[in-house]
Amino acid sequence: MFPIRGDDVVVKKMAQLIRTGAKLTGYTCPVCGTPLLLLKTGDYYCAKCDRPVVIVKSDEEEAQIKMRIGLAEVRNTVFSKIMDLNDQLRKASVNNVGEVQEITRSLLMLLETFDKLNKIINELGGRKSS
Ligand SMILES: [Zn+2]
Repeated sequence: MFPIRGDDVVVKKMAQLIRTGAKLTGYTCPVCGTPLLLLKTGDYYCAKCDRPVVIVKSDEEEAQIKMRIGLAEVRNTVFSKIMDLNDQLRKASVNNVGEVQEITRSLLMLLETFDKLNKIINELGGRKSS
């Protein structure tokens, strides 16, 4: 067993693949834990096991899709609350500064949440096309 030499070979192989257009990803091989490469063919590949890894990708995709659906629901809830606050704001008297302030503060918080959710949802969906 020469783990260091073995890893060295793997690293060289990975570097060579990256030079020819493969991308290092945040995914790791479920067998050996080596970071996976995304080949130009669109396949994920473990340089140590010398095999394509498909399961990780689909699991990740499945998890991402679930997250996107869940977060989209949260976004819908946030949006409906923004509309509720809009109604409240419309009804609020301008003379009642405290109430107007309270509503706009809540609106700001909800808009920030909405914006963040949008970004996260886009990031979860945009990874594949990049
Ligand atoms: Zn591996």
